[in-house]
Amino acid sequence: MLLARSGLSVAVYEAAVEPGGGARSARLFDADVVHDVCSAVHPMAAASPFFRQFDLSAHGVELCHPEVAYAHPIDEHRTAIAYADLERTCARLGVDSARWRRFMTPLVAHTDEVTEALLGDRRHLPQPRTAALLASRILGTGAFRSTEAQALLAGLAAHTLGRLPSPVGSGIAVLLGHLAHTTGWPVPRGGSETLTDALVADLCAHGGRVHTDARVTDLRQLAHARVVMLDLAPRGFLDIAASLLPDGYRRALQRVKYGPAAAKVDFLVSEPIPWRDPELHHAGTVHLGGTREAVYAAENAVAAGRRAPDPFVLLAQPMAADPSRGLPQKQPIWAYAHVPHGDPLDATEVVRRRIEQFAPGFGDTVRASRAVPASELEAYNANYVGGDIAATAVTVRQALARPIARWNPHRTPLSGVYLCSAATAPGPGVHGMCGWYAAKAALHREFGLDLPPGYRFGRTSPVS
Ligand SMILES: Cc1cc2nc3c(=O)[nH]c(=O)nc-3n(C[C@H](O)[C@H](O)[C@H](O)COP(=O)(O)OP(=O)(O)OC[C@H]3O[C@@H](n4cnc5c(N)ncnc54)[C@H](O)[C@@H]3O)c2cc1C
Repeated sequence: MLLARSGLSVAVYEAAVEPGGGARSARLFDADVVHDVCSAVHPMAAASPFFRQFDLSAHGVELCHPEVAYAHPIDEHRTAIAYADLERTCARLGVDSARWRRFMTPLVAHTDEVTEALLGDRRHLPQPRTAALLASRILGTGAFRSTEAQALLAGLAAHTLGRLPSPVGSGIAVLLGHLAHTTGWPVPRGGSETLTDALVADLCAHGGRVHTDARVTDLRQLAHARVVMLDLAPRGFLDIAASLLPDGYRRALQRVKYGPAAAKVDFLVSEPIPWRDPELHHAGTVHLGGTREAVYAAENAVAAGRRAPDPFVLLAQPMAADPSRGLPQKQPIWAYAHVPHGDPLDATEVVRRRIEQFAPGFGDTVRASRAVPASELEAYNANYVGGDIAATAVTVRQALARPIARWNPHRTPLSGVYLCSAATAPGPGVHGMCGWYAAKAALHREFGLDLPPGYRFGRTSPVS
């Protein structure tokens, strides 16, 4: 879309029958109920420099904000809650009330710099003041004493789907944690597909075309194009171009590690989840993981290739913010459990049991369900190798040098060929920044152009 806005002729080839990749929705069981097939909750889209310039609302996308950004039931009696409102959050955190406020307030005050740094291209250090703030907060995630604050931070860190504790987990906790109190954790009215629709409409309005059901099996199919932007995991790049790549680069791509996986389960339920703690009804996202220690144990088991007896489950109840997704007696529930790479497990029972721990009677409300095991996610989208929804593991090394160490990781050794997927910096999530950095590099190098007006935000990067 950025290339089309720059006046280039753009064609998109999409393997699936509809565009969107990780941002698609479907009426899985009932014409009245919209389920998000992959991404559901969009703190990154709400905050990312790219989407803020794109201006989602001007393109007809309404982001709906739940009262509770994310919540984390711990046991029968305790629930940790991150309200959109910072003070309300602090009020429930007991001994950590003041500490949470001190931790979050500077991040909230400097959210633009913090977000730009954490969604940065990894080639530039942030301004010293921002770097110092980030370093203190990443190191400071371990300082909380209450079970509730520890659980909140562990649940955030678990979004990285890897070994915990880790600096990468703490980094994502800082990013997502403070966004709860700034631009929020919204869901788009009508489903995540509305994000895709808006981008496709903008592309087409600038002369671009989208060809669906058009899998590229050999890079030479695109030889007519002056520039090729590959929204592929390293494995996908190797599949279509291995014989064309220089040995060193090919071997480096072959060494890229893929991480633990997601086993997706969607439910159609007849009423809101009967949470023991009614405050959970207001949450868009619920982390089912128990105490910090329990979250770490489950994540470390999965990272070591073992199923966790009580895996970490991410759950979204979109109707907490967007009633248009269904009807009072027909509601979508979105969830996935963390499982080992390539696990063929049908996680329906695991997720149902996990929800029942905090919402007895949930099973009786389920009218239909659908599971997509981690081992089958790849058939749906080739970028999710073995069910790794991050397109490559988010380890410290692969967070800093993504997918491999190169001065400009979006460039490849092949002339005019760029990588723009979540396997490149800054990593997974619906934020548009991987594409933005790749487009910036391609426009500059191949055409001597800058980004189109309105999209030249951020620090000036050397792009060679
Ligand atoms: C179950 C699940 C839940 C998630 N939840 C969230 C969430 O709540 N919030 C969030 O921000 N992120 C979430 N994510 C992550 C997010 O969806 C991804 O990080 C993001 O979509 C990555 O964007 P991308 O452009 O790299 O690739 P994708 O969105 O994966 O798109 C890649 C596209 O390329 C196509 N393709 C692949 N190979 C070929 C080929 N050879 N020829 C043609 N086309 C090809 C694929 O079909 C796909 O459409 C989730 C992901 C999953 C799977």
